[in-house]
Amino acid sequence: MMFEYEKIRPPEEGEKIIYENNELIVPDNPIIPYIRGDGIGKDVVPAALKVLDAAASRIKKEVSWFEIFAGEDANRLYGKYLPEDTLNAIREFKITIKGPLTTPVGGGFRSLNVTIRQTLDLYANVRPVYYLEGVPSPVKNPEKVDLVIFRESTEDVYAGIEWRRGSDEALRLIDFVSDELGVKIREDSGIGIKPISEFATKRLVRLAIKYAIENDRKSVTLVHKGNIMKYTEGAFRDWGYEVAKEEFAEYTITEEELWNEYGGDAGNKIVIKDRIADNMFQQLLTRTAEYDVIALPNLNGDYISDAAAAMVGGLGIAPGSNVREGMGVFEPVHGSAPKYAGQNKVNPTAEILTGALMFEYMGWREASKLIKKAVRETIKQGVVTYDIHRHTGGNLTGTKEFAETVVEIMNTL
Ligand code: NAP
Repeated sequence: MMFEYEKIRPPEEGEKIIYENNELIVPDNPIIPYIRGDGIGKDVVPAALKVLDAAASRIKKEVSWFEIFAGEDANRLYGKYLPEDTLNAIREFKITIKGPLTTPVGGGFRSLNVTIRQTLDLYANVRPVYYLEGVPSPVKNPEKVDLVIFRESTEDVYAGIEWRRGSDEALRLIDFVSDELGVKIREDSGIGIKPISEFATKRLVRLAIKYAIENDRKSVTLVHKGNIMKYTEGAFRDWGYEVAKEEFAEYTITEEELWNEYGGDAGNKIVIKDRIADNMFQQLLTRTAEYDVIALPNLNGDYISDAAAAMVGGLGIAPGSNVREGMGVFEPVHGSAPKYAGQNKVNPTAEILTGALMFEYMGWREASKLIKKAVRETIKQGVVTYDIHRHTGGNLTGTKEFAETVVEIMNTL
């Protein structure tokens, strides 16, 4: 895929990452687009790229960074917040890392991030959640948290299908379900539609199981509210089990099989389980270590991923990504925190660990591990930004200096 760009030029150095025969082929010197984004994106993205460069060079690789624009920078340059150049660069180069984007008020769309995900059909929001020693946590044993959350990004509430109370559409729907389907809905209701399809569920769960296999994970838990909504939430669970059985039979067993046939010892098989969403919230707190990879429809995923991130210390450290086969946009969970923009103050850990996740997706596992180890060690040694410092004290440092310490420590590993 080649595009004509209006205002940006890919670097001369470096080669394209390609996706062929269901495989991502990553050269030793890939071109990777990056978006600084708005607000504190300008602080954390440059800091993170320094760490990524250092980790890449340790495995004898080099990234050719390609700056592309979204948000306020793009609006200045192109007169729009999300130019076609940017979407095309993500399409052409497959893997992109970005900072947060402020949602423009009155821009006519819900959010730039949602638009990027939907335009490129990046259907899985993938967030690893793990504990870094030294980070303040509200729970007793945060070290037991080691999750990778796969949240569906195109359906359920994210489909955004709804009509205002009293609107023609809402009233027509209310009449239709009353006359044709015999279901009464109050006249003064807003109406929303919650679609959950076999196609979207299966591709999400497929990705989660593949991840579990490739990363030696022990279980994949399907989280749903199937006791109440059988044909959407319950179907999510059923289709999830179907993918496991039809496509990954040699790698997976169900929890029932674990007890009935395997005597409780799964060996190297991945256990597919399911939990009702409300139960899952308490299980996450009370039986944390029993959960590993988790796959969820959109709304359950929204709640669980923030709750899980809170357990290990919150926004400043939580990495994330939006992926599908052969394409990914990697971004921290946090937003653009405009009040801290340009102050060299905020924590770049989330953006740095987002880069580690990107390297993992590219197959650069050693570099990814090095980054995580160096970040852990930095925080453990008490070198921390204000958000952690206000709880723990220690050696207060700025965004840039934190990243520099991570690089220094990485060079000793
Ligand atoms: P936010 O930008 O995430 O900031 C909320 C608070 O979280 C900050 O005030 C700060 O807390 C803490 N925080 C966030 N990032 C941090 C970091 N790197 N280091 C230390 N502390 C950090 O959320 P928001 O204020 O709700 O949203 C601001 C804008 O960002 C909105 O326009 C929103 O739409 C957008 N947003 C974008 C994304 C994205 O691009 N993916 C995601 C979420 C929100 P304290 O003030 O307590 O220190």
